[in-house]
Amino acid sequence: MSPFVVADGRNFRLRRMDPDGSTHLPLKKEDAPALLSKTVERIAALQERLYAHDRWGVLLIFQAMDAAGKDSVIKHVLSGVNPQGCQVSSFKVPSSEELGHDFLWRTTARLPERGRIGVFNRSYYEEVLVVRVHPELLEHQRLPASLVTPRLWKERYEDIVGFERHLARSGFVIRKFFLNVSQDEQRRRFLKRLDEPDKRWKFSPGDVKERARWHDYMSAYEEMIRRTSAPHAPWIVVPADRKWYAHQVVASALEEALAGLDLQIPKPRAGERRELDRARRSLATSSSRGSSPSRPSRGSSSAS
Ligand code: AMP
Ligand code: MG
Repeated sequence: MSPFVVADGRNFRLRRMDPDGSTHLPLKKEDAPALLSKTVERIAALQERLYAHDRWGVLLIFQAMDAAGKDSVIKHVLSGVNPQGCQVSSFKVPSSEELGHDFLWRTTARLPERGRIGVFNRSYYEEVLVVRVHPELLEHQRLPASLVTPRLWKERYEDIVGFERHLARSGFVIRKFFLNVSQDEQRRRFLKRLDEPDKRWKFSPGDVKERARWHDYMSAYEEMIRRTSAPHAPWIVVPADRKWYAHQVVASALEEALAGLDLQIPKPRAGERRELDRARRSLATSSSRGSSPSRPSRGSSSAS
């Protein structure tokens, strides 16, 4: 995954990243389904260990322009995972209750527990993306005027970096995915949404307005990646023009993150082991009718 992982953003340039992906890592479309299903199987097994071990937690953050394929990535990559071990949260335009709090509040309430995988479909990063591109949205936040200074965006990056460092120090592994779709591919996908009646619900006229600010968004994404990448919370810039390719990159990155943890199935301690042995003996000799001991089965000696 190394061509796509940004663990130190200082020299990051978005224009060096190819939304098609083939220049970085060739993958063949015909090999993709088998490769993905193997990766998804391994993720499911690792997730079970994550749950049993119950020490580490995992936070996956997805950010992208409209129609880049966030929903489809989440659906495919987590398709094998036990729903009980996974929590997906989508963040839309903030409600008035949410706007009454600081910008990290609503996502904090949705952080995963230990042993779980938490998925954020959009996140607190919207603060340095849509709000940065449309600074007039800041007014809804009712910040004290003295705090709205030219330093505000730099402070937002610092607060995010500090927050993620805190999470990492508490045992939460963070992987942040930017689905890097090209402007041309976005246009094709919008047209498809409009042309196919079953897909029209996915399109909102506002999407075209945001598309018109494409270059401002790309600068915001680039600065976000430059300022908030860290070894414990890397950005993964996922080539997203071909969906099957994006699914594989995200799945492999998740597998790598889980495989890098010392996940152990808990073993009972000596005292617990004795108790489990007693429980086993009692179960082995009890019948299904209440607690009365069963008759010895044929062939087994009554002394045993
Ligand atoms: P979608 O995910 O396509 O259904 O759209 C959700 C919309 O909510 C997007 O247009 C986001 O830009 C917007 N949104 C999410 N978070 C925020 C935020 N903190 N402030 C303003 N708009 C947001
Ligand atoms: Mg949308």
